[in-house]
Amino acid sequence: MTRSPDVVVVGGGVIGSAVAYYAAKRGLRVTLIDQPKRGRATFASAGGLWAAGESVGLGCGVIFHKSAGSPDSDSRRAAGPSHLPRSFLDFSVLSNAMFPQLAQELREYSGMDIEWERTSLLFLLYDELDESFAQSIRDRCAEKSLGTEWLTTDELAKSEPVVTRHARGALRFQDDDQVNPYALATAFQASARSLGATVLSHSAVQALRLESGRVTGVGVSTGWIPCDWVVNAAGAWAGEVGRMARLEIPVRPVRGQLIGTETLPRMLTACLSTTDCYLLQKKHGEILIGSTTEEVGFATGVTHAAVKTLSAGAVRAIPCLEHVHVKRIWSGLRPATPDELPILGPAAGLAGYLNACGHFRTGIVNAPLTGLIVSELAAGEPPTFSIEPFSFSRFNTSA
Ligand SMILES: Cc1cc2nc3c(=O)[nH]c(=O)nc-3n(C[C@H](O)[C@H](O)[C@H](O)COP(=O)(O)OP(=O)(O)OC[C@H]3O[C@@H](n4cnc5c(N)ncnc54)[C@H](O)[C@@H]3O)c2cc1C
Repeated sequence: MTRSPDVVVVGGGVIGSAVAYYAAKRGLRVTLIDQPKRGRATFASAGGLWAAGESVGLGCGVIFHKSAGSPDSDSRRAAGPSHLPRSFLDFSVLSNAMFPQLAQELREYSGMDIEWERTSLLFLLYDELDESFAQSIRDRCAEKSLGTEWLTTDELAKSEPVVTRHARGALRFQDDDQVNPYALATAFQASARSLGATVLSHSAVQALRLESGRVTGVGVSTGWIPCDWVVNAAGAWAGEVGRMARLEIPVRPVRGQLIGTETLPRMLTACLSTTDCYLLQKKHGEILIGSTTEEVGFATGVTHAAVKTLSAGAVRAIPCLEHVHVKRIWSGLRPATPDELPILGPAAGLAGYLNACGHFRTGIVNAPLTGLIVSELAAGEPPTFSIEPFSFSRFNTSA
């Protein structure tokens, strides 16, 4: 007789796949259930591993705060985007540091290359406001011993010859790199499988069975799958899955649109962040230009306005892109929370339930540590990193 799984993971994006991998690696019996929904974030993502950059408000953060801030653009920019708390920075830096070994491990288990590349992230400085914002970031990074480096205009031109000569220089984040997010999620799943996990890849979780304050099973179209733990890794749909357990999980979709150019010869060594957009060249040659942050519910379309704004930002940073073709444009739904931090771990009063959701704009970089920690919780072990700042109880909104 086959034993029921210890852990059922709902959602096969990068987070659910990472949980499945680490749980299978600890010897837990795992079933991953995924119903691919339009707009799932992982497969729309840019794959920036910008642990420091995103924590201090760069990358997608700068665009998020620009769109969320006051209409007075100069005062908004002078204040700069808000920094995320220290606990988040520490979490992200630790997760990012797992990539070199992870790339090797996943290759061994799955035969796949996740295209992890050491690139660094450059924040391009266009004017005095950018410079003073960068200085405040640098002071903050120095306090935390994070590697940064100033580049003068000449140094920038030497390092990235295609970047505009109008930039006054750049601030480099030395350990912020990139990966192929599609390959990462797929390799996590394939590795979990090779470690014994079952993957139901076109199956929706429709209900959770609750008995005496505990989740005891997961309902799919073919019936109930009993389990000891269910992990909610449903991305922007985490609220829907939470409601199956009578929990109000405050995760909402925030749309991001991204442009991909035609395949180009290598022209960037670093990832770039500006106050208009970010740019990164993937291994196969496409340059990705991102990204919008839009509160449009579960709408997954793409817009002319986004193509125009992102393209203008990209050409300002790399003038020769004016002559390059756009190959595709797409969008995805980031799973956002009210305080921009993920929700990890249990829900008070409900045994057998774990959250692994709300990773907003940094789910790719934060997937390894999330997967590790959630697998530790499911195995009844103390987590490697305190999840207190990321606990569901901070919202205190149980229905
Ligand atoms: C344009 C864009 C660019 C980004 N760039 C970066 C970046 O550079 N770096 C970075 O770190 N992060 C980035 N992000 C954020 C990152 O992509 C997300 O934080 C991360 O992918 C979230 O992963 P997830 O697994 O939680 O969600 P998802 O990838 O959305 O996965 C959730 C899965 O659950 C499935 N599901 C939902 N409900 C059910 C159900 N009832 N039953 C079964 N399955 C279900 C969905 O179909 C989906 O497959 C970006 C996001 C976007 C949109």
